[in-house]
Amino acid sequence: MSTLPKLRLEHVTKQFSVRGSDETFTALDDVSIDLAAGEFLVLVGPSGCGKSTLLDLLGGLSEPTSGRILLDGRSVSGPGLDRGIVFQQYALLPWRTARANVEFGLEAKGLSKKQGRVLADDYLDLVGLAGFGDRYPHELSGGMKQRVAIARSLAFDPEVLLMDEPFAALDAQTRESLQDELLRIWRETGKTILFITHGIDEAIYLGQRVAVLTSRPGRVKTIVDIDIDRHVEDVRSGEAFRQYRHVIWSLLHSEVERARDLELGAATAGVEHV
Ligand code: ADP
Ligand code: MG
Repeated sequence: MSTLPKLRLEHVTKQFSVRGSDETFTALDDVSIDLAAGEFLVLVGPSGCGKSTLLDLLGGLSEPTSGRILLDGRSVSGPGLDRGIVFQQYALLPWRTARANVEFGLEAKGLSKKQGRVLADDYLDLVGLAGFGDRYPHELSGGMKQRVAIARSLAFDPEVLLMDEPFAALDAQTRESLQDELLRIWRETGKTILFITHGIDEAIYLGQRVAVLTSRPGRVKTIVDIDIDRHVEDVRSGEAFRQYRHVIWSLLHSEVERARDLELGAATAGVEHV
């Protein structure tokens, strides 16, 4: 029986050179995570811990300094249609309608104009935007724009959906309804999803597992298995949810404290040198 993970991060380290010096800055340090096919994994970590850096690596927009990223056992090199990315900013083309945004690039997949249109409408339907295909981005709310972005990613039928704080710019109400929509879409499509957030509730609500990252440099601190019944009313107020929130909050809180101590330490050291 094959137990090959869909996506594997293998001792991934990413360093940046510091401008104007020989030093390097380590953004990610020895990150190893496996995602099973069809899994919904959430990465949560403090601001600046390297989440977007990790997403860029997964998307093939940059390369690890060391370590490997494997999709179905094959090394990722460069961007590819096997990975769909949804960013925090909607990244829609403002001069194209919602439908035309979803259609964009589908010809490159060998679809005819007509097939592209049908597919785009199917995916707009899936994300709850049936009938909005002719609207331009400026005629859509933030939540609707993000639905279009999700539809566009899914239209390419990627193996893996990578999402970098896609709901962070939305109001709480819209965010919660998009979380529900995303869970529904995930169940309907069976996609493997890696979702990045700094929101604890969002992580618990969405993830089958939640990987907590340390602050600079980003390492995997713990992976928490989430086992809650999401079908009950107001699940975020339930006892199980509260316990998970406390566990993850404590893990993150100690990281935020550590980062502050490091910064204070550096500042004090600086003063002593003067
Ligand atoms: P997060 O998404 O978790 O908030 P990022 O991945 O954006 O964090 O950034 C992690 C760290 O790496 C930050 O300190 C950031 O300044 C640094 N960083 C990100 N990209 C670059 C780059 N291209 N060159 C130098 N430093 C970078
Ligand atoms: Mg980020």
